[in-house]
Amino acid sequence: MPASSIYIHLPFCKTKCPYCDFASFAKEDDKRQRYIDALCSEIDQRMLQWDLRDVEIKTIFFGGGTPSVHSRAELEQIFSKLKQWFKILNSAEITLEANPGTIDRAKLEQFIELGINRISFGAQSFDPDLLEKLGRGHSVEDSIRFASVLNRHCKEERRSNPVDQQSLSTGLLHCVRNDGRLASWSLDLIYGLPGQSLESWQQSLEQALEFSPPHISAYCLSIEANTPYGKIYGDSSHQDLPQETKLIEMYELANEKFKAAGLERYEISNWAKPGHEARHNLVYWRGQEYFAFGLSAHGYIDSLRYANTRELEQYLAGIFEQESSKIGTQEKLEEKILLGLRLAEGLSLNQELNAAINQAKLQELKNTGFIEGQNLIKLSDKAQLVSNRVIAELCYH
Ligand code: SF4
Repeated sequence: MPASSIYIHLPFCKTKCPYCDFASFAKEDDKRQRYIDALCSEIDQRMLQWDLRDVEIKTIFFGGGTPSVHSRAELEQIFSKLKQWFKILNSAEITLEANPGTIDRAKLEQFIELGINRISFGAQSFDPDLLEKLGRGHSVEDSIRFASVLNRHCKEERRSNPVDQQSLSTGLLHCVRNDGRLASWSLDLIYGLPGQSLESWQQSLEQALEFSPPHISAYCLSIEANTPYGKIYGDSSHQDLPQETKLIEMYELANEKFKAAGLERYEISNWAKPGHEARHNLVYWRGQEYFAFGLSAHGYIDSLRYANTRELEQYLAGIFEQESSKIGTQEKLEEKILLGLRLAEGLSLNQELNAAINQAKLQELKNTGFIEGQNLIKLSDKAQLVSNRVIAELCYH
């Protein structure tokens, strides 16, 4: 199946959070225009090289970084370039990551006019002390204000996810469905923060649910070695870090509260009301191919995985790619198992997948209640938080 999704990386942020290992930069705003120009050159270069044109696009994701720091004119330039090469379907899901403090109601409305129809909003915590320690550059009040705006701009009715084959080939501002409202939005939270108690987590969950977000992501903080957090909390037994039993309680509490609010878990860390699942992310989790452009972007086209440079100056100088490699059959199967089992829909086994799985281990994981099902296998509830270990065991021969 040809790729029908595009990831665009926009690396600029208001502040650099001390736990962040992404290719993202604060205080580099003077480079934004050069970056957009370089991004457009990369799109031209890759599309010419692949000899592709008018590929139908069903999802676009502007990630970062903080894409909401950009102006309407900057995003318009990117849309214009994309329209030159791709046919963006009327029904395309077009997501932009946004952080409060970089976007207000007026800017959101400009983005919606451009075609953005889904916002992924990084609230992360509603505990003022923890939020400050995360160094996000926004306050709880900023989050509350922005969540209220999103709530008002999102349709309440259930989204139908139609496969609309109609696409428009002319008119920049008409490349996507646009009725002045968002089709969906997501609120992101992080748990497992240093010093976080179960009570503080519960308060953040309850505050988040007050805005009825149709989609929530809740990720466990991952301490990355080469970050300021890594230097302080690099030892996972650091006394301020919640330990495994606490993390399990936090995860279970979130799952319980989301479920009660009508949000179903469809991936280990993602919950949605029916029809509000992130279509773009499902492309990754189902092992499908996708285009990716921008600093540090990772794409997957024609069985080839490629990774762009993380060096901003290199990227601005037009040196885009760092490495690429063809994915072999075994690797493809292992990825399918790894990603497919993260999804609540599970993994449908066929002859090829069965051959890639350690069958003795599979039986053992079924006997111990970590995996359920026969031809369609799924992780059980208790396996969700130890999924990496369970999945690794399955693939190990
Ligand atoms: S806002 Fe996001 S991308 Fe930017 S520094 Fe913070 S965590 Fe990283």
